[in-house]
Amino acid sequence: MRACRKPASRRARAADRHILFHELLDCLKGTECPVCRLVRQRMQSRMAALFRELVNDPPTRARLRAALGFCPRHTREALRQGDALGLSILYADLMAELLARLHNAAPASAASRRPACPECGAEQADTAEIAEAFAAYLAEPEMQDASRGNLRLCGVHLLTVMQAATPEARTFILGQVEPALQSLLKDLSEFIRKSDARFRHEGFGAEGDAYLRAARYLTGTSDEDRHSDG
Ligand SMILES: [Zn+2]
Ligand SMILES: [Zn+2]
Repeated sequence: MRACRKPASRRARAADRHILFHELLDCLKGTECPVCRLVRQRMQSRMAALFRELVNDPPTRARLRAALGFCPRHTREALRQGDALGLSILYADLMAELLARLHNAAPASAASRRPACPECGAEQADTAEIAEAFAAYLAEPEMQDASRGNLRLCGVHLLTVMQAATPEARTFILGQVEPALQSLLKDLSEFIRKSDARFRHEGFGAEGDAYLRAARYLTGTSDEDRHSDG
């Protein structure tokens, strides 16, 4: 496949990267990790497309049958689409597949292991693509200007982007995130110190909610994001 790549598809990928550049710029204005947000948006539009036009698509159905449906998280997302007929068609297929496998059940082997959820696989690919592109863009002045003071990558995606970044981009990223991380760590240590009976009389200050800020930092979301996500 790779050998017969056409110039048109290269152009299409270049256009996709250009769109991604602007999507990332837009995400930097929000309070959520840009990688988390774009990966979720792509997943939601794939789910919408599945019920809009791919319920009877043979390769889509084959992937779902092989995995016996989605993982619990993506099942919730599929149910949220609220397409009772589409869901009935998909689940009729999956129930028939389950019954067929029951009749052919053999001792557990590598062949009978459940393949990964197709959406989890697509999300992994999206995460790698978006994090890699963001790392490359963070070497450019326009992306650096937009990220200054707004680089809210969650802990996991911060590491993913760092691993893909050039030495110059790494220096920029570290300069943006390290002071906030050090300060958060200091607040957590101060909270722990003041929780000791000998120092409790000092009372809590800004460090009082450090554990909440650390939890939000690592998951890349603000309270508003969590609530709007449902
Ligand atoms: Zn993230
Ligand atoms: Zn999944």
